Amino acid sequence: MARVYNFSAGPSMLPESVLAKAAAEMLDYEGCGQSVMEMSHRSKVYEGIINGAEALLREVMNIPDNYKVLFLQGGASSQFAMIPMNLMTGSGKADFVLTGQWATKAQQEAARYGQANIVASSKDKTFSYIPKLDPDTFTKDADYFHICMNNTIYGTVYHELPQTGDVPLVADISSCILSAPIDVSKFGVLYAGAQKNMAPAGLTVVIIREDLIGKAMDITPTMFNYEIHAKNGSMYNTPPCYTIYMAKLVLEWVKNEIGGLDKMLVRNQKKADLLYSFLDSSAMFKGTVVPEDRSLMNVPFITGNEELDALFVKEATAAGFVNLKGHRSVGGMRASIYNAMPYEGVEKLVAFMKEFEAKNA
Ligand SMILES: *Cc1c(COP(=O)(O)O)cnc(C)c1O
Repeated sequence: MARVYNFSAGPSMLPESVLAKAAAEMLDYEGCGQSVMEMSHRSKVYEGIINGAEALLREVMNIPDNYKVLFLQGGASSQFAMIPMNLMTGSGKADFVLTGQWATKAQQEAARYGQANIVASSKDKTFSYIPKLDPDTFTKDADYFHICMNNTIYGTVYHELPQTGDVPLVADISSCILSAPIDVSKFGVLYAGAQKNMAPAGLTVVIIREDLIGKAMDITPTMFNYEIHAKNGSMYNTPPCYTIYMAKLVLEWVKNEIGGLDKMLVRNQKKADLLYSFLDSSAMFKGTVVPEDRSLMNVPFITGNEELDALFVKEATAAGFVNLKGHRSVGGMRASIYNAMPYEGVEKLVAFMKEFEAKNA
């Protein structure tokens, strides 16, 4: 069996040891004679899995006790509505920074429920940078301030958080969760679809400060109310059982095999440095993001020639480097190098790029 190096932006690679463990436990989970896929979510065995996943996430991310962890469905995209429905109930206003397609979707969805102010945008340069923010332009009585921390499509990341004072900071961390330590106490809400860095698709993790729960609009569907899920320990209805189990295995990998998020950051920096320093030295390939805002997870690049881009993607795919085509809204290439991508995968990709450059110069 030949496994490829999968540079997909999501769903994406999972650690091989996690997949092997899931395979080994597929037919008989810990001697209970059934697969995790088959068992009741109300069983004692499953209770151990979901509670274990939450405990590990709390430990690995160092989540303070006054935050709830919710395991939901509907993807990060459902949070674009769920957040305003639950939080936009004081002044009815919120601030948004437009740093890409996901940030824009979050703002557009919130605008259906209240006043969704755009305080800054980097659309003028195809979202290739994070705008400088001036706190004087922020809405003082906003119910929250929303950012998309790592911009999956454009390859930018915030290195500095906006100074929002008492206004709760809400961040979409779908494509950077577990990639580096994060100070949870600086945020009101963190949310992420799991399929980039945490698990297969199907799970959305919400980490929310307790005082922000219980303020939902009357029109909020029961399933969109944070309070319902918090009160029921993410078991109001059937949770995405198997994906939560996979997240638990990934968290065990982060904790035991990697050694936590500090170590994960070092590992991710090493991988990203290798690729960016090649892009900076190449005469053919170049990164599209300003150096100071470059993401460790998603690395978009171009040759400047669409035919050459297409040839590169084609030859790379044949050589076992798959899903390198850039997002349809940007073109070019994008290498997503999430936690599970080994250093060796980036090393081999860079060697392949060097060869391609020599051959096509
Ligand atoms: C992938 C992604 C989304 C969309 O996630 P879904 O789970 O497909 O709804 C939203 N935000 C960011 C930053 C993403 O990377």
